[in-house]
Amino acid sequence: MNNKPQESAACNYEGHDFGATYIDSCCIDGYLWDLDSCDEPGGRLSDGGDMPCPKCNTLEYLEQAKEEAESCTSGSVFVSGGGYAYTGESIWLSAVRKAESLNPDGAAHALQKLGVVKTLVPEAGTNGYAVHRYIYCEEGDRT
Ligand SMILES: [Zn+2]
Repeated sequence: MNNKPQESAACNYEGHDFGATYIDSCCIDGYLWDLDSCDEPGGRLSDGGDMPCPKCNTLEYLEQAKEEAESCTSGSVFVSGGGYAYTGESIWLSAVRKAESLNPDGAAHALQKLGVVKTLVPEAGTNGYAVHRYIYCEEGDRT
């Protein structure tokens, strides 16, 4: 039986969100699914549904990135053919860049709603990290 959820006509997002160098993710109803989690062409995808889509679910996508950026100082990812290191700040900045390129209006709206994002970066010192603040307010002079 084919139980594939109806695809939203408004969003045709595809990306590299599951670690592959080729297109490995697609959007179904605002959440990303792993295209590799399917045994047969056109069959049901078994892995995904947790990651908000940066294009049509931008607010939730940025909310999740904010949470990660404010709780994680640094780390690294190893994928086939390389890997990369990240900090809380770099998680946040790359999420914003992605959201803004896919959905400029939605990203601007979401950032205003989030207000202030306190990203973490590693730093020698008492805490072992420093906080880099990003402030997105409706009026620039509001505190
Ligand atoms: Zn989408």
